[in-house]
Amino acid sequence: MADLAAAAEAFFAARVPLRAPASLAWGEGSEDVLGVATQRGEAEAAEVATAKSWQAGLFDAGLAWVDGPPEYGGRGLSAAHARLVRQIGARYELPNTSCFMVSHDIVGPTIAAHGTAGQKGKWLPVLWRGDVIACQLFSEPEAGSDLASLRTTAVRDGDEWIITGQKVWSSGAHYSGVGELLARTGATADRHRGITAFLVEMDAPGVDVRPLRQITGSEHFNEVFLDEVRVPEAARLGAVNGGWEVARTTLGGERSLMADEHNGILDEPVRRLFALARHEGADQDAAVLEQLGEAWLRDQILHVTGERLESATGAPPGSVVKLMMTANMEYYLDLASKLLGTKMIADTGEWGTFAWSRLLLGAPAHRIAGGSDEIQKNIIAERVLGLPREPRPAGK
Ligand SMILES: Cc1cc2nc3c(=O)[nH]c(=O)nc-3n(C[C@H](O)[C@H](O)[C@H](O)COP(=O)(O)OP(=O)(O)OC[C@H]3O[C@@H](n4cnc5c(N)ncnc54)[C@H](O)[C@@H]3O)c2cc1C
Repeated sequence: MADLAAAAEAFFAARVPLRAPASLAWGEGSEDVLGVATQRGEAEAAEVATAKSWQAGLFDAGLAWVDGPPEYGGRGLSAAHARLVRQIGARYELPNTSCFMVSHDIVGPTIAAHGTAGQKGKWLPVLWRGDVIACQLFSEPEAGSDLASLRTTAVRDGDEWIITGQKVWSSGAHYSGVGELLARTGATADRHRGITAFLVEMDAPGVDVRPLRQITGSEHFNEVFLDEVRVPEAARLGAVNGGWEVARTTLGGERSLMADEHNGILDEPVRRLFALARHEGADQDAAVLEQLGEAWLRDQILHVTGERLESATGAPPGSVVKLMMTANMEYYLDLASKLLGTKMIADTGEWGTFAWSRLLLGAPAHRIAGGSDEIQKNIIAERVLGLPREPRPAGK
């Protein structure tokens, strides 16, 4: 452990500055409360290029995939070793690497669990080195929470499959090299039993990625149109009509990511609230102090609950922590709105203020991504509390 810690410390210290002090001095470092990238165009391209070059250096130094299997580029150490490197890294001003979230937390683990040796060898090293980015091609205009309604089809043609349909809300598809796609290979009435997963190369003829602009002004999502896209049989992930099994792994990874308090979606919101209250001259106001105290407490409870659930079940904390995270986000935003007043509705150019407006505009997305709040509540009710299943339409 000590050797790894020393190597990680030396790696980070040689390349990036330490983060601003714990107080997050006003005006220093990044002003963003939302850790995920929100840009598009040249600014985003530059950010992705920086992230790729950073990730390649980290991977080559053996610090990117510390707990991954050595045959696919990992270091072969434990999850505790990986956590240690992340903790050390968190003390530094690292480049924004949120473009790798889907690759590393959602698609990569699915390939590791369901891929053939060939698929693992082809994709895992390049995904972890950041040479290729992966996206998730699940949602469709008529299939979101009810994913088993998906209509994109894959039809076998000799050694190939021909895929036709439309995906939507595909995060980062515009800079991705590969997409994990679910397609219908059985009858629509088969629902989840007639779905197969594929790894589709995004530059294949017939793949058309079109941006969707969000209320935040960013274009993080895309529509992906697939017009008779031919993929080889070797790109099938898991069994024919076994895509639901594959999807469950992917969705589990996505839920864990959303529930991970260190997922990088929020960047030190509570400390930033303290700094904001001081900056706005409200840090002696009794009502503000009370809300700051509660914000801090909620953050601590989230942390402890995550640890408790993980140690009790051995599994990532999932739905409970994700719901707490989105509820906390709303609480922080309520306080930020009180502190900023009318500044919350305009980009005045003042450091550290519009960052809160951006979070306010982006917050609803986090209540939907990785399974909406309502779906998380259904999961807790049915799978954790053992309550009766909600009525489903015939055949579901
Ligand atoms: C930030 C973000 C990133 C995303 N990234 C991707 C991506 O990379 N790839 C991808 O494939 N998809 C992605 N999505 C899409 C996401 O998976 C879907 O938006 C989500 O599954 C909800 O589906 P929907 O939008 O079709 O809403 P719907 O499923 O139509 O839901 C509409 C409303 O009805 C409620 N509802 C639906 N069913 C029930 C029920 N059974 N009980 C109670 N309430 C219910 C929902 O909670 C919601 O409020 C992303 C979404 C967001 C916000």
